[in-house]
Amino acid sequence: MNFMPQGHSVDPVKLDKLAEVAVKVGLQLQKGQDLVITAPVVAIPLVRLITKHAYQAGAGLVNSFYSDEESTLARYQYGSDESFDRASGWLYDGMAKAYANNAARLAIAGDNPMLLSEQDPGKVSRANRANSTAYKPALEKISNFDINWNIVSYPNPSWAKLVFPNDPEAIAVAKLAKAIFAASRVDLDDPIAAWAEHNANLRKRSAWLNGQRFSALHFQGPGTDLTVGLADGHEWHGGASMAKNGITCNPNIPTEEVFTTPHALRVEGHVSSTKPLSHQGTLIDNIQVHFEGGRIVEAKATRGAEVLNKVLDTDEGARRLGEVALVPHSSPISASGILFYNTLFDENASCHIALGQCYSKCFLDGANLTQDQLKAQGGNSSLIHIDWMIGSDKVDIDGINPDGSRVPVMRKGEWA
Ligand code: ZN
Ligand code: ZN
Repeated sequence: MNFMPQGHSVDPVKLDKLAEVAVKVGLQLQKGQDLVITAPVVAIPLVRLITKHAYQAGAGLVNSFYSDEESTLARYQYGSDESFDRASGWLYDGMAKAYANNAARLAIAGDNPMLLSEQDPGKVSRANRANSTAYKPALEKISNFDINWNIVSYPNPSWAKLVFPNDPEAIAVAKLAKAIFAASRVDLDDPIAAWAEHNANLRKRSAWLNGQRFSALHFQGPGTDLTVGLADGHEWHGGASMAKNGITCNPNIPTEEVFTTPHALRVEGHVSSTKPLSHQGTLIDNIQVHFEGGRIVEAKATRGAEVLNKVLDTDEGARRLGEVALVPHSSPISASGILFYNTLFDENASCHIALGQCYSKCFLDGANLTQDQLKAQGGNSSLIHIDWMIGSDKVDIDGINPDGSRVPVMRKGEWA
């Protein structure tokens, strides 16, 4: 990583539009509301623009917290062994306190997905575990939608070099910036209006699926014959959604998916991944898994199989599904043909399933259901939530009604 002048490769006007979209569409930041930003230190040009738009929108206090790749690697090189079981709980406690006081949260993604690929996997997993545990009080307020939150991306040079390995750094950054701007709809004349239209389309799709009340979805394609039972009282969501503080936010920018909760005990058959999954610095490719009674009983991959099986052993819920999502093959991110090695982008290029934790929001009246009720309706729980891609232009999807009759949902990767 270095502080190459970004201005040469990242269009400043579009970067400013991305900041405006993050504040006005992503967060819908309210007058007087505080904002907590987390970002890689290279993303500081975007952080400054977001901070400007936040104060222009009447923000209370805006605070930013930075991560730095070189400093992270220094820990792995020089840090004492005991340090890998520790995490900055005091910082996360402070964030949890801010969210309890209705602060909004904005995360800028763009870390090098392969940063830790050369490091001791034991230390990586210990550090991740310590961090997940310490972060839990703050993360729960985000994942339970207590507050409005948003993630946008910045073309970090180390990420750009991974996506475009054959280009010099400045060109790679320019190409990634262009792809981020297109996917985030900030290359259009009126990005705010474009987002309103996009949200309306996603709402229409989820309303149709909610009206169908399918009991299962059946995926069929090369290496895939999978029946995903849907949770009892599941609800489809997509695009903008209202947080418990009453503010309607767009948590992910970009987003192309409509998604719901599968039934943790009712998934049968086999499925093959259609894109590689990058997980904690490891690439897991050509995943093939077999489900019985909702549980993965066999998992293979041509690359990263060891890491995949380690992930599946995290806890009982790690072998079961917590999300199923539909994305047309013609989505702009998929059409770009770029593999981003970043879930925020890659999951929006393809239909996907996620191992692990479900979203309580994806149940009718989910906010008022207890953990026991969610479980009884088929909701899965786990420390992990890992999305991986199973859609392509060769996959057909049927909706299955409780009486066994079928309705075409997607044909060759497109809405039927
Ligand atoms: Zn998803
Ligand atoms: Zn997910």
